[in-house]
Amino acid sequence: MPELFDLTGKKAIVTGAGRGLGAAMAHALAASGAHVTLAGRSPGPLEEVAGAIRQAGGMADTAVCDVTCRTQIDGMVQAVTERQGRIDILVNNAGITDRGPLTGVSDEAWDLMMQTHLAGPFMACRAVLPEMLQRGSGKIINTVSVVGELGRPNVVPYATAKGGLRMLTRSLATEVAGSGIQVNGIGPGYFMTEMNRQIMADRAFFDKRVARVPAGRWGEPEELGGTVVYLASRASNYVSGQIIYVDGGLTASF
Ligand code: NDP
Repeated sequence: MPELFDLTGKKAIVTGAGRGLGAAMAHALAASGAHVTLAGRSPGPLEEVAGAIRQAGGMADTAVCDVTCRTQIDGMVQAVTERQGRIDILVNNAGITDRGPLTGVSDEAWDLMMQTHLAGPFMACRAVLPEMLQRGSGKIINTVSVVGELGRPNVVPYATAKGGLRMLTRSLATEVAGSGIQVNGIGPGYFMTEMNRQIMADRAFFDKRVARVPAGRWGEPEELGGTVVYLASRASNYVSGQIIYVDGGLTASF
């Protein structure tokens, strides 16, 4: 049974892997045997995570790459392909957030949200797919969000972008399923990461958010590990176009 989830010899890229959910998913993929390239904007944190993975006996490299920039994505995918021979697993995880009513959203903030969560994954998928299609196998995993499913106030650009990423996942899955490539999404609920630092700092607001979760608590980043390994492994070879919500029952309760 464990060999179903074995990623030995697999080459993976995780974007936004310098901290939070990306770092946790990179750790889990490496612990299952994958060689992981950690991609992101800040070299320091990426090197720190890669060092920790290597210390734990895993294989990890880093690549500085802003996912809003086509030339950086294409360059990163080309460099990793040259170095590793191929890319088996792409995790589109890099993300940002912003809170506030729609009337206060600038054109620039809107564009950055779409660039980061929609154009970035689109460009990364486009860059890795030709070689995956030629080989007839590959796994693409997009970090979506419960917010892209449910709709929430004061995060309209974020929710819109995640809703779009959800549809990118489902549509692309149908386009490439016949070529042996699975495209799926992970939908985290509330997780204890830097992205939610502001919420966590406001005790009353935080407690209200916790109360909404049937599990009675927020998730720890490591709790995404099993799902990303499953979606990256041959255990999920007939799973296509699905979003797996890892949310302590949040989506089920709406
Ligand atoms: P963090 O803020 O902790 O981490 C986000 C990571 O993305 C950072 O490493 C950041 O690195 C990187 N990043 C941001 N913009 C870019 C960019 N343009 N190019 C490359 N890297 C970038 O967030 P989380 O770990 O919490 O979130 C990870 C993903 O999960 C996001 O897509 C988020 O929307 C999603 N998510 C998170 C939830 C949560 O509760 N935490 C819930 C639902 C979804 P740097 O700034 O150094 O470049």
